[in-house]
Amino acid sequence: MKKREFLRTMGLAAVSLTSGNFLLQACSGGKKKYKNWAWMSGRKDVTKEDWIKTFSTLRSHHIDAVLIYGDKKEDILSLIPLANREGLEIHHWFRSLECVDEEIMNEHPDWFTVSRNGDSSLDKPPYIPQYKWLCPTKPEVREYMVNRVSDSAETDGLTGVHLDYIRYIDVILPVGLQAKYNLVQDKEYPEYDFCYCPTCREAFKEKEGIDPFDLPDPTKSEAWRQFRYDSLTQLVNRCAEAVHKKNKKITAAVFPSPDIARRLVRQDWPKWNLDGVLPMMYHKYYNEGVDWIKKVTAEGKKELPANIPLYSGLHIAMLKPAELPFAVTNALKGGADGIVLFTGWAMTDEHWKQLIKVI
Ligand SMILES: [Zn+2]
Repeated sequence: MKKREFLRTMGLAAVSLTSGNFLLQACSGGKKKYKNWAWMSGRKDVTKEDWIKTFSTLRSHHIDAVLIYGDKKEDILSLIPLANREGLEIHHWFRSLECVDEEIMNEHPDWFTVSRNGDSSLDKPPYIPQYKWLCPTKPEVREYMVNRVSDSAETDGLTGVHLDYIRYIDVILPVGLQAKYNLVQDKEYPEYDFCYCPTCREAFKEKEGIDPFDLPDPTKSEAWRQFRYDSLTQLVNRCAEAVHKKNKKITAAVFPSPDIARRLVRQDWPKWNLDGVLPMMYHKYYNEGVDWIKKVTAEGKKELPANIPLYSGLHIAMLKPAELPFAVTNALKGGADGIVLFTGWAMTDEHWKQLIKVI
């Protein structure tokens, strides 16, 4: 699912900027080194000259790293020297478990997750037609993912790979998005609850002695919940090992706080051996104000090992230019190691003017 498809237009109470020079103060103290990022879709409609200009704008506004989207590494190869020339790190950003590869759909239908109703997400995707997800437990899927990240990590000039959609299908949507789908998800409903594929059922039975279908109430089983957190963690850590062997970095886009991530999409991301986490702190999806960014950032920092940096992802289309400095300072007050713009393309001249005041 494209993130922007989830965008809702909702009123946001005006927030006042009270501490816009927080980052400046923090930086001048010399205590902490910040790093700022921008997610950039790999647009085909812009010229090479546009990319050069855009990279220059990003760099002159203290953005240090760009995450460029491409289903395959070939999609971004031509941009690597352009970003490097500006002194920007470039990371390959791609979809992980949400599958857009027709070949896999045709040749490996058994790789897809199965719901508690017994439906494959390939045949009966929930929410939107393209919501077809691979099962993180299957050895074949793990091998496929490790091969993908290894292949990408071999690319000269690339700093790292960036996993997106590295999660289960939302068993519960962010509260601000449920109305869009005419849903009230007050508990885990079977058509959104994955993965009950044969591989997962057998692996769980081997470990716990019971088929998840035979649990009195699978939504109440801590062991079954933990099994799925662990399956994803094992996959991510296998990918991390493969990328680190190539001396490259690996990061991931994750849900905003560890608690929300576990509850909605079964990501236990504080356990992932990454070089950085980039939580998507898109406040309006959760019916929250900009100050919520501080809260969820602090929750993430509290659970993450101290050596793993956290960069707070800000949804620029949800922020009026004057609100952007407030969002940045909230992230930093929560302990963030920098911010991520979603996306660099959404930044207007006025956003840049406001951003430069705080970084
Ligand atoms: Zn499965």
